[in-house]
Amino acid sequence: MQSKSQPHKFSTSRSVNLSSTVVEQSEFTIHLANHWGMCFGVRDAISLAKEKAVDGKLTILGELVHNEVVRKKLRKAGAHEGDLSHLQAGTPEVLITAHGASDREKRRWAGLGHRVQDATCPLVKKAHTTLATLVAEGCFPVVIGQKGHAEVEGLIGDFPEAETLLTEEAIRELPSRQKFGIISQTTQPIEWVESLVAAFKKFHPHSEIIFRDTVCQPTKNRQRALDDLARRVGLLIVVGGSNSNNSRQLAEKAQRLGCRAERIAHAGEFDLKWLEGVESVGVTAGTSTLPSCVEKVIAQLESMGGTRVAR
Ligand code: SF4
Repeated sequence: MQSKSQPHKFSTSRSVNLSSTVVEQSEFTIHLANHWGMCFGVRDAISLAKEKAVDGKLTILGELVHNEVVRKKLRKAGAHEGDLSHLQAGTPEVLITAHGASDREKRRWAGLGHRVQDATCPLVKKAHTTLATLVAEGCFPVVIGQKGHAEVEGLIGDFPEAETLLTEEAIRELPSRQKFGIISQTTQPIEWVESLVAAFKKFHPHSEIIFRDTVCQPTKNRQRALDDLARRVGLLIVVGGSNSNNSRQLAEKAQRLGCRAERIAHAGEFDLKWLEGVESVGVTAGTSTLPSCVEKVIAQLESMGGTRVAR
């Protein structure tokens, strides 16, 4: 944080007064990614939750969206928040989030007498069906994904023997099987997933390796748009919550490509110091980020001397 008496130094031409902090500010361009922000799966889940929240009869089982503003609105509308692992909920209806849940968990909630509203994204459902088919074909199930993530827990919930992994080392240490059936968490970067499938072939040369690509198209679109953007800008801002896997993946990918990247949940988390020496700023957002959050970040960058450049 700069003090009022010692303005932060930039190579520049303009003064900005933000929250009583006066800084010398350079001019820079702002570039929005070709694909960014909220996907249809999260949007539809929010719509269903809004519709069912009235009368206070609904408990949302998990983090519907990694966005506190939306969650606050839903609570205000009457929705309660719970968790899939809870033993019960105090409302007649419960809602499965876009991340999905295992059939076992859905049956458990129905068995407790709750009406189960299912907002699982169709692309997550497709990953469930794909894994079930691989198991039915005699494969040992593997999910390339983050252990403990809600979507992954749902995917493996009906297959206790399934392995979840995210590194080459874990693949090397895995005992060989006759047939591995591999899918991926929907929000993993496809290049990383493919490199791990190649590692399976390398470390388990005598096993049959069957891979089904379940990374979702919205994630692929945002990742590919980032490839281009990260090479053109000096700083990349990813707007997304700290629990958002795909927002974190976008920031990590930009860093791997050699671009400085910062993830922020909202405009208030932006640090003016990041602009030092920067001539162009890229903006993208994860699949659970509201368009209004991104617009606020862009408006803030414009107030700091940025000029938005058409794509
Ligand atoms: Fe569906 Fe992909 Fe969005 Fe997840 S990130 S909700 S899988 S579209």
